[in-house]
Amino acid sequence: MIQQVDKVVLDTLKERLKEIFGYSQFRGDQEIIIQNILAGKNTFVIMPTGAGKSLCYQLPAIVSDGMAIVISPLIALMKNQVDQMNAFGINAQFLNSTLTKAEINKVKKDALDGSLKLLYIAPESLTKEENLDFLQKTKISFVAIDEAHCISEWGHDFRPEYRRIHGIIDNIGNLPIIALTATATPKVQQDIRKNLQMEEAETFKSSFNRKNLYYEIRSKKEAKKQLIKYIRNNKGKSGIVYCLSRKTVEEVAEFLSVNDVRALPYHAGLDSNTRMANQDAFLNEEADVIVATIAFGMGIDKPDVRFVIHYDAPKSLEGYYQETGRAGRDGLEGNCIMFYSFEDIQKLEKFNKDKSVTERDNARHLLNEMVAYANLGVCRRRQLLSYFGEYLDKDCGFCDNCVKPTERMKVQDEVILVLKATQFTGQRFDAEHIADLVTATENQYVRSYEHDKLEDIYGKGTELNESHEFWVSLLRQLVIYGFLEKDVENYGVLKLSEKGANYINDPYPVTISKDHNYEEEDEKVEEEDKEVAVGSGSAHAYDEALLGMLKALRKKVAKEKNLPPYVIFQDPSLEEMATTYPTTQQEMAQINGVGMGKVQKFGRQFIELISRYVEENDIETAKDVVIKSTVNKSKVKIYIIQQVDRKVDLEEIAEAKDLSMEDLIEEIEHICYSGTKLNLDYYVNQIMDRERQQDIYDYFMNAETDNIAVALKEFAGDDVSEEELRLMRIKFLSELAN
Ligand code: ADP
Ligand code: ZN
Repeated sequence: MIQQVDKVVLDTLKERLKEIFGYSQFRGDQEIIIQNILAGKNTFVIMPTGAGKSLCYQLPAIVSDGMAIVISPLIALMKNQVDQMNAFGINAQFLNSTLTKAEINKVKKDALDGSLKLLYIAPESLTKEENLDFLQKTKISFVAIDEAHCISEWGHDFRPEYRRIHGIIDNIGNLPIIALTATATPKVQQDIRKNLQMEEAETFKSSFNRKNLYYEIRSKKEAKKQLIKYIRNNKGKSGIVYCLSRKTVEEVAEFLSVNDVRALPYHAGLDSNTRMANQDAFLNEEADVIVATIAFGMGIDKPDVRFVIHYDAPKSLEGYYQETGRAGRDGLEGNCIMFYSFEDIQKLEKFNKDKSVTERDNARHLLNEMVAYANLGVCRRRQLLSYFGEYLDKDCGFCDNCVKPTERMKVQDEVILVLKATQFTGQRFDAEHIADLVTATENQYVRSYEHDKLEDIYGKGTELNESHEFWVSLLRQLVIYGFLEKDVENYGVLKLSEKGANYINDPYPVTISKDHNYEEEDEKVEEEDKEVAVGSGSAHAYDEALLGMLKALRKKVAKEKNLPPYVIFQDPSLEEMATTYPTTQQEMAQINGVGMGKVQKFGRQFIELISRYVEENDIETAKDVVIKSTVNKSKVKIYIIQQVDRKVDLEEIAEAKDLSMEDLIEEIEHICYSGTKLNLDYYVNQIMDRERQQDIYDYFMNAETDNIAVALKEFAGDDVSEEELRLMRIKFLSELAN
């Protein structure tokens, strides 16, 4: 019986999701989070930027009686969300110091008569006596606390007002709380729970993997030239270029402007009017590129930032991950490129000169992690996730180190040696110390702990590899591959994991990567073509000409309504329109992210444009396709095409559509045979190494037939699976036949 009730609730939630937001599926934990808060329970949500936190309180607010209070630290962010909610036809408003008396009265009226669904409010305003009095008279469904890490002094953005929130909520009534954040170490999580007195609250933590982001590090050589070349290749796309100093910001913005890029600077040294104007110009697409110090970005919700370039190396991986996280929030393309030079690191080190000893030590640790990230040849995503305490068991196939690997090698004795060294020294030392030990390098502790007496270990590494750097790199790689673990209490200290302990007794060859040597690579690159086949010029399933026209129309409508363009329709929706050509209101409402509210508000001109385009170009529309096959089938195909465009793992696509891997591949084959180009490289690179791919590719190149049974026979002795063959056949056909 209970299950039945749940199912009814679930169905209605899904219906409302489609009707209001135009999405046909919940993402990740959204649904269960919403149920939790609807059940009146305190809820704690930790999700990376772009994962869809806002929906977790917006939707329950809409379906509940009364209004939800949303506490948010930034006025810009509130305005943004209020605009988006209003575009969906939802009554949401904010209360802050920028409002006139008349505006405040309107907010209060709507709150009291029950028509207001979401009230956004800054913590400062919440504490005001008069607001408190009025809130006590309203019906409130729950309280959402966005950017909840601001509560903690251990977070990176502490705001004292946040610490008073709980007391005030208590004054208003006994209300369920949903706290949300994108960054929280275990320590910060603990602070948040304690301060909000919700120790019992269920926590929903999602993976921090941002699958649509491509990570790349380039040597910082002729950086300006590389920058302009990249931006030119990505003309018209939104991007952020981060620089360390105000001076560099000015310099780079100026340089880009001179080269006809619509770029504007942003840093704390600009007067606040200019700063706001530049930010708005970026949001409204009057500027394509914003060149900024790290002061820029907090509260920027622009979902279609296509690239984030670190012109200078950042101070920590925390910062790097947060800044790169601003790319591709809509799940589409997001390229993250960093220009790296060791000189920049030395500069950063100098900045720390005047800090206290502890602060300087901490800063140096963080910087060392940054250097290691740049230098290691290991999959960038594995490195990043490992840093944030998440383990990924295979390479991602979608970062520079995966696409263009450094030299690989197999090691075994080396691994045994360092694991033993870790074990025999009591699991109390860091990578530097263990490298010192195996290379017999003097340091103050080796002798005092009598580590030089460890016969099987002391100096034993030099026979295998003389370089100290090799051993440090090996140890770092063993952490990422799960043989070693970092001690949470003591910075840098390494411990054996279960996998590591087992390895000593039962070893096998482990593949590791050589570190980058950016100077050497610079020389090689001179000869080769530098462009990696990602980011520009890749084949898409949508109609590019139509997409361009839709974007132009969106810009025009946005200007008329004085809203940022993405509030009208987001990029994924426009891309879908340029794939399925909706020409009626009903068809338009089927587009992901649209919904009837938006169709009625903004749809007309878009439908007209598409109808005209379809007619002029004699295009077979979704309607025509539907007649030939069944509705569902063509929907599934479109879904697959879009997900592959977004480089989503095939396993995930199969799961979302409840298909077996075999069925999914079959669907993909149909798509390809009917002439649509699909680029599966991101996936193929994950499951097959280059050599194997080349072998199969060559086979199809020379074979008489592309029949899979014949191919299977040919590869009978080589342990090649049917799935691999079929994927390579798709790749082959896409590249050559389509
Ligand atoms: P966060 O606050 O976690 O950084 P947002 O709430 O801004 O993320 O959401 C990021 C993007 O994802 C937005 O463009 C939003 O419209 C989109 N989004 C959220 N939920 C869904 C969903 N269920 N299906 C499709 N897109 C979604
Ligand atoms: Zn990778």
